[in-house]
Amino acid sequence: MAEELLGRVAVLGLGKTGIAVAEYAADQLGKRVTSVTLYGGARAQQNEQTSALEQRGVRVVCGTEEIDESFDLAVVSPGIPQSSPFFLSAVAHAHEVIGEPEFAWRESPDRWVAITGTNGKTTTTLLTTELLKAGGDDAMAVGNVGTVATGEVAQRDASCWFVAELSSFQLATAHRLHPRVACLLNVTPDHLEWHGSMQAYADAKERVFRQLDERDLAVISVEDEWCRAMAERMQARGLRVCRVSVHAELDDACAAFVRDGRLVVRLDGVEHPLVSAQNLNIHGDHNVQNALVAAATAVELGVSDDAVSHGLLSFRPLEHRIEPCGTVAGVQYVNDSKATNVDSVEKALTAFVPGKVVVLLGGHDKGTALNTLAHAVSSRCKAAVCYGEAGERIAKALRDEDGDMGLLVEQAPHMKEALDAARKLASAGDVVLLSPACSSFDEFTSYQQRGRRFKELVAELADVQVARPAGDSADD
Ligand code: ADP
Repeated sequence: MAEELLGRVAVLGLGKTGIAVAEYAADQLGKRVTSVTLYGGARAQQNEQTSALEQRGVRVVCGTEEIDESFDLAVVSPGIPQSSPFFLSAVAHAHEVIGEPEFAWRESPDRWVAITGTNGKTTTTLLTTELLKAGGDDAMAVGNVGTVATGEVAQRDASCWFVAELSSFQLATAHRLHPRVACLLNVTPDHLEWHGSMQAYADAKERVFRQLDERDLAVISVEDEWCRAMAERMQARGLRVCRVSVHAELDDACAAFVRDGRLVVRLDGVEHPLVSAQNLNIHGDHNVQNALVAAATAVELGVSDDAVSHGLLSFRPLEHRIEPCGTVAGVQYVNDSKATNVDSVEKALTAFVPGKVVVLLGGHDKGTALNTLAHAVSSRCKAAVCYGEAGERIAKALRDEDGDMGLLVEQAPHMKEALDAARKLASAGDVVLLSPACSSFDEFTSYQQRGRRFKELVAELADVQVARPAGDSADD
């Protein structure tokens, strides 16, 4: 653990992150910390957790976003945009304003892997953690995956790798954070309302590489133009860059790619042939990309080829990410509720045989452009059922794109009715895929709740199917 004096500490945000940082700082009161103040925000209210913190000497301020004292350090939770009055008030009152992963890193800076990108972060973070473990290392997934890194610092063993999933919000407030390996999966439009522009969003992602030096490794998937440009800039800085491609065999000294169906990592000219992509349990081009990034990281950190291969073969799909959830009347049902943006749906569709998918699209309308989605759905799906707030707009985009190419497009008010319609459109051998391209807030509290409801509905279908008398058709 670090020894640097922290002085007067402000913590902004009363979620999981803010609580973890306030608890950690409270443990240092009278040692490296002079005072801790937790600002919950305008809508925050005192609760059991804040009372417990107060008993440990933390001053808790709720119901305002005005910082009312001077601080040496302010640690900001990721939900607070840099342009918000709350954040700006912290800037005006604190000598330094940082995000939580930066704070955790300062407190415990060895053995970090940082993983970012628009999509695939959680999958790649958990897979990398598994690969390190498969090689006999101690490793823990932290950050955006759900475990606040700061909360783990005190009990962290010196040999344990922190594999940190970092969102653009968390990177925007990182300054000294210096991972041993930093990975970037992709940069496609998302969260633009938070960052203000695509350039600002991409700049935040690029900060993951800021502190790397020539002993470290930058792993960058070069499938989109933002990432390709970043790979070039990192190479120009003299860093070791492992370029990753699912589609092209790369000839760089450090690269990860697929050759004759097999995953290959090459580091400093030495090749490590791994498993066949088709033997992975996570499907689709995007998951091959995730696997290549995780494998390159593990090989760099000394895991043997055999252990990496073994870890890759045993990794199973995560909940809500192309998660198989049952076969009813020969139709496979798949929950990809985590696909809350257009790019993740386009990638998910590559996991299935073209022409066999009935996709459920809809939910809260984020107003994203739909042309590439419409093209992917029209060329790869048998049918689409559009529902919820965004249903109308998506259905229109699909009809405009498809013309009379044969894609069946239907509309339904909510997800349940959409599933009913999809069941009727699908026949044995088809896949009904919930990959909605939207957030869930018009109907659910979260993508997890949406995915679980979908699975319940599929289970009910299966029950009906079992109860159905022989000879009764499932396609009525
Ligand atoms: P994140 O943590 O970045 O949101 P997840 O691993 O949770 O990423 O996956 C989110 C969604 O994106 C899922 O629907 C998944 O199928 C899709 N996805 C996963 N990996 C990728 C990738 N490399 N590129 C595009 N989409 C992906």
